Amino acid sequence: MKLARMLAALTVGTAMAGCTLTPARDVSVSTARSPLPRSAAPAASTPTAPRVRLVAWHGPVEQLFVHPLVLRPRLAFTTDSLGQGFADYFITAREFGRILDQLWRNGWTLVDPRRVAAGDVRVPPGRKPLVLQEDDVNYYAYFNGRGLASRLVVAPDGTVKAEYDGRLTDEDVVPMTDAEVALHPEFSADGAKGLLAVTAYEGFFGEHNLKDPAARQRLQTLVRALESTGWVIASHTYGHINLSADSLSVIARDTARWKAAAAGLLGPVNILVYPFGARPDAAARKLLRDAGFTVQYDIDVRPARWTEDGVVMMSRRHVDGYAFANPTAMASFFSVKAVRDPLRP
Ligand SMILES: [Zn+2]
Repeated sequence: MKLARMLAALTVGTAMAGCTLTPARDVSVSTARSPLPRSAAPAASTPTAPRVRLVAWHGPVEQLFVHPLVLRPRLAFTTDSLGQGFADYFITAREFGRILDQLWRNGWTLVDPRRVAAGDVRVPPGRKPLVLQEDDVNYYAYFNGRGLASRLVVAPDGTVKAEYDGRLTDEDVVPMTDAEVALHPEFSADGAKGLLAVTAYEGFFGEHNLKDPAARQRLQTLVRALESTGWVIASHTYGHINLSADSLSVIARDTARWKAAAAGLLGPVNILVYPFGARPDAAARKLLRDAGFTVQYDIDVRPARWTEDGVVMMSRRHVDGYAFANPTAMASFFSVKAVRDPLRP
């Protein structure tokens, strides 16, 4: 079971597989307004967002996703199969820092995925919108001893940090992105940071025991801190299941378990990020829609947004070791050669 889960989580970014599982379709980007419920619309701006002049954007919107960062490459990139999985599907903190810097220099600005779903994107004049996403922000047990953080916590000063080896660190997607936006206010529109997709089979954000009252309290504090600083939370299913292969009853049970785990901790969540990028069939998509997931994401190599059965469907692309093998595809975002960690195999 554990091994299956581990492998499931590791094959997450199978956008390569995303291609086999979900062949690229000829999808034109809809400019129609989506049927998003009002409650899903983000606040006009967060109180802490610096004032940046914004103009409407009408083109497609690029969306990139990563996994929790490798902080100690020598511990992660070993020669066993788990080490190969880290090399294929994860990037290092050093790589992510350089990527953020290049995204900023190359004219990208972080936007809120809810605004993208609603067709209401705004960016500073001359800049391009980008949704940053992090999948599996769960700090699974198999990360132990492999050089990744173990959870997200709110530091005494109110900022969100990661915990590594019992100490707080700024080396992870959330604190590094927060710092980049603080340094360059025009790197964010409306204070947006990104989308954090979580499963629930090992809790949320590294808190593995959801029955522990202290853990629940920490999570509530953390979620408030994330949401008030421009982060949006999405479901990645309860068990990292394969929505294109599992039966309707399995999907229904998984969805009920996710909602039960999230109740009282995550607030309303209406975005679903398909594990493996695997698209459900129409019946399963409707089941998920009726469970409240009115925005659903697959994986593709180009930006797409369309509406189907009352669901806003969008695509995002992976940034990982596999993606680094095709530098041309990443060139408008960053130079693979310049960001690549020398400790990457
Ligand atoms: Zn995943």
